[in-house]
Amino acid sequence: MGSSKALKLRTGVKQIFRVPSRAFYFLYIDDFFIIIYLQLFRKVFKLVRSSDIMGEMTITGHYFREYIETMERGELDALIDERIQYTVNYAAENSPFYKKWFRDQRIKPENIRSHEDLLELPIISGKTIRNYQPPEMPDFFFRSVDWNDVYTIHETSGTSGTPKSFFLTWEDWQRYSEKYARIFVSQGFVPGDRVVICASYGMNVGANMMTATAHEIGMTIIPEGKCTFPVRVIQSYRPTAIVGSVFKLLRLARRMSKEHMDPRGSGINQLVVGGESFCEESRKYLAEIWGCNVYNTYGSTEGTMCGECSDLNGLHVPEDLVHLDVYDPRLQQFVSDGECGRIVLSTLLPKGEKCGTLLLNYDTEDTTAVITRDRCNCGRTHMKVVTPQREAETVWVAGSPFNKVDVERGVFQRNNMEYLTGEYEAFLYGGHDEGETVLRVSLECIDPENCDKSGIKENFIKTFFLFKPGLAQSYDDETFKVIFHFTGPEELELYRIKGRPRRLVDRR
Ligand SMILES: [Zn+2]
Repeated sequence: MGSSKALKLRTGVKQIFRVPSRAFYFLYIDDFFIIIYLQLFRKVFKLVRSSDIMGEMTITGHYFREYIETMERGELDALIDERIQYTVNYAAENSPFYKKWFRDQRIKPENIRSHEDLLELPIISGKTIRNYQPPEMPDFFFRSVDWNDVYTIHETSGTSGTPKSFFLTWEDWQRYSEKYARIFVSQGFVPGDRVVICASYGMNVGANMMTATAHEIGMTIIPEGKCTFPVRVIQSYRPTAIVGSVFKLLRLARRMSKEHMDPRGSGINQLVVGGESFCEESRKYLAEIWGCNVYNTYGSTEGTMCGECSDLNGLHVPEDLVHLDVYDPRLQQFVSDGECGRIVLSTLLPKGEKCGTLLLNYDTEDTTAVITRDRCNCGRTHMKVVTPQREAETVWVAGSPFNKVDVERGVFQRNNMEYLTGEYEAFLYGGHDEGETVLRVSLECIDPENCDKSGIKENFIKTFFLFKPGLAQSYDDETFKVIFHFTGPEELELYRIKGRPRRLVDRR
């Protein structure tokens, strides 16, 4: 083949068909052609983004920032230590709270040199933040920049008291949105994806930040804010992905089916869920109903933005931008990898950058376990954790704990889902006798008249007690009872309560 001929070669790439999460491309070079599929295509297709304060950025389609996301462990740990030193110094100089805190604790910021040294520092909680802001205090003691540098103000949802205030600089926006961008790219999002955001806008960070992130990747956002949008939105704008919660996406699918639209044929290739913990069974069911992958994310106003990659086995923590430690329940020691414990996080700042609200050793009151710090199948080296659960959603019965997620697992057994919508709520009551506890599980049926109630009960009990010998013992000696209540559509208590539904409520 001569060079003059080579110059005139017809070359290009064309998408020929797409099945959930895979797009097949037809690559043609003159008379030769090959069919490749998206994942491969993404690896060779490079989009270069202009440089900014974070240095030259490259999206390979597979990584958002390959150099950092695939960094060797030793190098990554060194980077983390460097950023811990800078962040601790920044806190001591710029945060009124930490200035006083270091003084009161008689800690010299320059002695905190590595992530193990964080163990020496006290742990703060949401209550600490609330105690150092109005109305408790005349000013916001966690604000760590001048007002002139505050770009936006945010609040947490305030489910447990006064909302916590967070101040974000423009640099915070860039770092937060980078975290989301890494997640989206790791989940296979590409330029041209059209994404409906069902997370709420307003003063929380998530939806706003994901919208900013879309620009980094070249995606289109449909900012619905809620999952109750009319089905015509899907027909008109042909979105390729939706960000929402498991239950909202199940409801949306039911609404679509009622309007004779099959979620599986709707063009949605990816669902991103977050905002709550869920069991693997409910994810599987959601994936089945929509015919596509369901990726989990764990984001918070405090700045954790962790997400599952295409490997779908744990959430990557952006270790260079947020430091996540897992502590024992008494918050004294780190637990070993693989062991469950409390998530305690610290902000990490790249050298020279500013931060609006900075947290060191912040107890999230969520629990998780580190799955691995080794390289993932996706190539990333940043550690992976299991889906975090809320401590507030864990209850104790006769010395044994169980979480909302355990109840959910009992509900979402596949055979149950022939009769159930998945909506449920559970209440714990004290029984008639001393020391007796009753768990009342209410389940929404598609049609209560036609529902295999005894089968559902059996499936639930079998799964719920599977790994809980202590509870199973209490169940056997009848000090712990489980009763079931089957309802028709929209008859659960949670439909009458505004805000995030509480699915496991302790009424003892
Ligand atoms: Zn991965």
